[in-house]
Amino acid sequence: MLWQLMFPHLSGVCVVGVSRVGPTIRFDVVTRENPQPCPVCGVVSSRVHSRYSREVTDVAVAGREVLLRLGVRRLFCGNNGCERRIFAEQVAGLTVRYGRRSLPLRYVLRRFALALGGRPAARLCAGVVSAVSRMTLLRIIRALPQPEVGELTVVGVDEFAFRMGRNYGTILVDMATRRPVDLLPEASSDALAVWLTDHPGIEVICRDRAGYFADGARRGAPAAVQVADRWHLLANLTTAVERVLGRKRSCLNGRDPDRIPALPIPPADPPDGPLAQRITRRHPQIQQMLASGLDDQRGLA
Ligand SMILES: [Zn+2]
Repeated sequence: MLWQLMFPHLSGVCVVGVSRVGPTIRFDVVTRENPQPCPVCGVVSSRVHSRYSREVTDVAVAGREVLLRLGVRRLFCGNNGCERRIFAEQVAGLTVRYGRRSLPLRYVLRRFALALGGRPAARLCAGVVSAVSRMTLLRIIRALPQPEVGELTVVGVDEFAFRMGRNYGTILVDMATRRPVDLLPEASSDALAVWLTDHPGIEVICRDRAGYFADGARRGAPAAVQVADRWHLLANLTTAVERVLGRKRSCLNGRDPDRIPALPIPPADPPDGPLAQRITRRHPQIQQMLASGLDDQRGLA
């Protein structure tokens, strides 16, 4: 039948009816009543305790959402020593415990979420795959297992902004693979020292010049070599050179102005946005108040 070609994941159940309920296509299905293993002890059972109906959303077809009304059994566990007395059967490749979406649908949603992120994926999924909220997509991503972290010998340490300018944590990066391996909830020497103590074998710690990172690295991995990472080194050098040249500019200009041409400044696009508009609106007010003898901005809207 056509639906068997379109829904190969339903091969583990018996379809007893297909109907259209408003914009939704509904499949009424029942399990094949094969013996099922207990999820705790693994002993198979076919002793029926009761039956119930659950609804599972499946991948949409031709823009129409698909709902599976699934008749399943509750089974007794046949192992007297098992802590689980009764369990609900699951359909392999189709359902999981407490899941309201089929496994194929969860797979598709996960692909969309990983490619686009929560909000854009939610907009695209509506009407194409299944209506889903951005938070559900983010939960699906967060439920993914963490990738295995190999042996760490060279790690990078830096601050990580949970809320820019308010809350900072610590990010640790495996410099061999250039992948983050951990996030610590705070940026402190104690947090870094504890993490390094829990991860022995680190030989090189690549960090910025923050004193608390140096202290944490010294206490957590005293044998490791601490090096300044290239980005912070160049950033610090740039700042220092600019400061020196700024102080010496008049002096250098006075000696030989023809040989020290001013650096060309690329034209910048005029800033736009709420902040720029507010500053533009305030500027003439400030100039007017300064001209009238005031020396602060009190009273500005
Ligand atoms: Zn059991």
